[in-house]
Amino acid sequence: MGSQHTIVTLGSHTALQILKGAKDEGFRSAVVTTTKHKPIYEELFPVADEVIEIPTYADFFAVEEELIEKKAIIVPHGSFVAYLDSEAHKAMRVRYFGNKDILDWEFNRKKQKEWLAEADVTLPHVFDHHDDIDRPTIVKFYGAGGGKGYFFVKDRHEFNRVLDENYFDTSQVILQEYIVGCPVYIHYFYSPLDDRLEILSLDRRYETTVDSLGRIPSRNQEGMNLDPSFVVVGNTPLVLRESLLAKVYEMGRNVVEVSKTLCPPQGLYGPFCLETVVTPEQDFYVIELSARIVAGTNLYTQGSYYTQLTYPEPMSTGRRIAREIKLAEEQGRLDVVC
Ligand code: AMP
Ligand code: AMP
Repeated sequence: MGSQHTIVTLGSHTALQILKGAKDEGFRSAVVTTTKHKPIYEELFPVADEVIEIPTYADFFAVEEELIEKKAIIVPHGSFVAYLDSEAHKAMRVRYFGNKDILDWEFNRKKQKEWLAEADVTLPHVFDHHDDIDRPTIVKFYGAGGGKGYFFVKDRHEFNRVLDENYFDTSQVILQEYIVGCPVYIHYFYSPLDDRLEILSLDRRYETTVDSLGRIPSRNQEGMNLDPSFVVVGNTPLVLRESLLAKVYEMGRNVVEVSKTLCPPQGLYGPFCLETVVTPEQDFYVIELSARIVAGTNLYTQGSYYTQLTYPEPMSTGRRIAREIKLAEEQGRLDVVC
């Protein structure tokens, strides 16, 4: 007999692989989406058993009661964070895959830094005040999605010039040391059922304009007044130099173990991502942690180089989530994961 539960997510971001993964693991599935995006899930890729329409993403809570009646299990992704009120998100009563207590540790920059420092990962220096800037720095606005509005300054004087030209609230920015290296986004999955950490896949982001500046020789750039921006437009696949996997595994392990002390007993589980920049010394600077499925996993609906080594079937991150819920149900331990 199949599960009594229905896997449900918001229609956007990584919904297609989550819904397809649910189907592959034998679950019923439903997608809650806006009128505008409904054709994606109804006509283009009808992978869900049911499409529930709402006017805007923020209206998600209007259908919560209906979802509880359906025995829904919510699988969160980036749009839950981008479009839902964070307090309402935390107060959600419908079953939810993931540890909501972790959200505070993820979104409070200070707390996230404490967590990562405790896990002993390498972090870029953060300047408390712009007068302290003493090296190239990336300026990030709180709550910005997908790198929007970030800018680069070479030094303190350049920061002051930008501020003079275009006043903004300096208390609303993070001043992070700019690391020159390769961006590497690591997609982990931690199973609390058998205390196993997996590396499911990796990606690099494709960002405009920073990824295109190298196409114009620097002598031609002179006088063009070009500033890099970091707006994500897509993702490209990546396979890591094999010897680096040991370091990558260790970082993920430490982050998980520390999270268990911060939000006991489970801590961080399911999919998560460490967003890193790797230097020529092969140091992984962690620039951000994402405590859920990230969009770069959309590359791997058919599985990745790494999942092919572990699973006989094509294993996307979406499917891996459904597999975890299925295993928990079979073991009578659903409460451990949702
Ligand atoms: P969307 O569903 O495209 O409106 O995106 C929802 C949230 O996820 C927004 O905060 C986006 O900035 C973020 N997002 C979407 N696609 C990507 C991507 N490929 N890489 C990084 N972030 C993304
Ligand atoms: P984030 O929103 O923090 O994931 O950053 C978006 C993009 O900005 C990254 O994919 C990088 O290209 C760039 N970036 C962010 N922080 C840094 C940093 N400290 N050093 C270099 N590049 C960065």
